[in-house]
Amino acid sequence: MNLPGAPFLHRRGSDLWLEDTAVADLAAAYGTPLYAYSRGAMRAALEPYRMALAARPHLVCYAMKANSNLAVLQTFAALGCGFDIVSAGELRRVLAIGGDPARVVFSGVGKTRDEMRFALASGVRCFNVESESELHQLSDVARAERRRAPVSLRVNPDVDPKTHPYISTGLRGNKFGVAHDRAAALYRLAAELPGLEIAGIACHIGSQITDTAPYLEALDRLLDLVEAIDRDGLRLHHIDLGGGLGIRYRDETVPATADWLGAMLARIDTRGHGEREILVEPGRSLVGNAGILVTRALVLKPGAEHDFCIVDAAMNDLMRPALYDAWMGITPVAQRSDPPQLWDVVGPICESGDWLGRARELALREGDLLAVTSAGAYAMAMASNYNSRPRAAEVMVDGSAVHLVRERETVQSLYAGERTIG
Ligand SMILES: *Cc1c(COP(=O)(O)O)cnc(C)c1O
Repeated sequence: MNLPGAPFLHRRGSDLWLEDTAVADLAAAYGTPLYAYSRGAMRAALEPYRMALAARPHLVCYAMKANSNLAVLQTFAALGCGFDIVSAGELRRVLAIGGDPARVVFSGVGKTRDEMRFALASGVRCFNVESESELHQLSDVARAERRRAPVSLRVNPDVDPKTHPYISTGLRGNKFGVAHDRAAALYRLAAELPGLEIAGIACHIGSQITDTAPYLEALDRLLDLVEAIDRDGLRLHHIDLGGGLGIRYRDETVPATADWLGAMLARIDTRGHGEREILVEPGRSLVGNAGILVTRALVLKPGAEHDFCIVDAAMNDLMRPALYDAWMGITPVAQRSDPPQLWDVVGPICESGDWLGRARELALREGDLLAVTSAGAYAMAMASNYNSRPRAAEVMVDGSAVHLVRERETVQSLYAGERTIG
């Protein structure tokens, strides 16, 4: 089976390579645990979005919460992307790379007034508003600044994307978006509020969705609204389709981005909205399979029920297994010809939830390097310092060039802001 991330992640003989760089060399130079990204894989993942949208007004806003490393942002900005942000901190990152705030959409169910003010002053493209109260608050903030805030309502279409409940966001019971049957009234309200200016409409039904059907269902409901709002005499300039498809972690069959987006755009055209600007906010699909987490086996510990391989990466480095019960690929950096055995690959943290993979068939010895695959999205971005573990270094591979894009944290930096008493 191909490695997720192929052809950028591949084997040469028994050795794992990322583009034209041996993964073992990365570990030797930068230590472990180490996040390594393929710049080529990121560019390649963006390509089908660019192709599908090329013929119409559009903006691809990379959802940077998936991986907000400055070099990742820089890579996408250089290809014309804007950004989907969910905090003022993320906007600071856009500004730090010289990104264009006019290509930024500000999502999120709870923005502070300070965040609103900062985003407004920076000149973001659009606020994706998720409640009636937020409309009022944003209007107040904008009026006090003598500005008008461009807004879209994020509509909750009440469709079931059949993904993990934690990343399913378009069901009526979720905290996200405004209810479909309230949306038209809220647009009329937005049109009357003095600090607001209607820009578009948005929808995001969840993440790691591997089927086109719920997207099309949500889109139809969104277009029903677009037409109802038109009839009210209000103009929506853009339609924001939300996040991208899921990715293949294991054996998922995921539609090609080109096919999925092609079907969405065809539906938009069929319903007569082909002239409107299209925004998309992909995160995972742009970076997920571009990254690996390299870790070293510290201890092999045969047990009563499970044999444990304890590695130097842990749930603080990669939370997806602990948080979502997520399956991530684990592969040796150098394959051995020893007979494989079943291992529970776990971290050193004092929690039984600290695991990376269970019952994995691997031929291993202590000291061996392993790579956790599909670790480019919602991985380093969710890392913490639990157990006073400094966060990993990150490198960006571009062919045979390797760029250190984040230094490994020092332990001292972890408590630099703390004070003892007296
Ligand atoms: C997280 C998020 C995205 C990105 O979702 P992916 O599944 O990573 O593509 C897009 N839009 C919003 C509003 C989000 O919260």
